[in-house]
Parts: sequence; C-alpha cells; structure tokens
Amino acid sequence: MTRTEVASAGPDRRIVGADGIRPDGTPILTISACPRCAGRWFPPRDICSACAHDELDSVEAGRDGIAYASTVVRIGAPGFTTPYVLSYVDVDGVRVLTHTDTVDREEPEALAPGTPVTFTAGPTMAAGQVELWSYRVRAADAPESDR
Ligand SMILES: [Zn+2]
Repeated sequence: MTRTEVASAGPDRRIVGADGIRPDGTPILTISACPRCAGRWFPPRDICSACAHDELDSVEAGRDGIAYASTVVRIGAPGFTTPYVLSYVDVDGVRVLTHTDTVDREEPEALAPGTPVTFTAGPTMAAGQVELWSYRVRAADAPESDR
C-alpha cells in the first residue's frame, strides 16, 4: 500500500491507520473485499476471515458513515489526553473504531447511534516528537473542529 503524506506534513508528522489524506482533508481508508463470499474487512487483510480466500480486492471507503455506538473516554490509554470520544462507525460494509471530533473538548458528548458522520483526519496522539495523525469522524451536521 502507498502511504501518502499530508500536504503540509513535515518530518514530525506521520499517518497511521489510513493510507493517506486527500487534498480535501478526508482520509483514504482501504477495505479488503472478498469476491468469493462478499466479506468486507477493515483494517485491510490478505486472507478473508470468513472463507479463507486469499485474493481479496481493495476498495476505497467513502467519506460518510453512520455511528453504531459511541462513548466518552475519561480514563484513557497512555499518550491520549482525556476526555475524548471513541465511536464505532459503519461505512461501506465495515465497522470502524475511530476517534471522534467533538464541539466541546472539555465536556464532550458521545454520538447517538444512527448519527450520520463524515470522516476527517487529524492528530490523534504524539509518539515522542512525532505527531501521529489518523482518520477521525465528526457528526455530519457539526461544524469543523480544531479538536
Ligand atoms: Zn470470503
């Protein structure tokens, strides 16, 4: 897979989880699609987890999804500033766990199940001096956030 740097990325910024970021700021997410059983998988893989077929197609996920479940994390993993919101989002036949942009960073709210979301990209955590960017979502009707 090709990794595409963010247009303004420097040596201190890396993309994780996505295959790149489009000029419009949306992430490129690759889904593995099985031509034998129609299974779909994210993150992409080499072998279908349902039927073990080993010639999977790669398809690019769309920019829009639907929140399946969401929660506010108040005690996070090392390296993550709390509170933050994690959501499971359904997009093009896969369910993706993703950080979620919120309007109020101090008192964030989880997304209600069924909320339409748009994929974005942005900083998720720091690893030493390297800023790690990944895919994220925000409610489709929410204003863009500075996170
Ligand atoms: Zn399969």
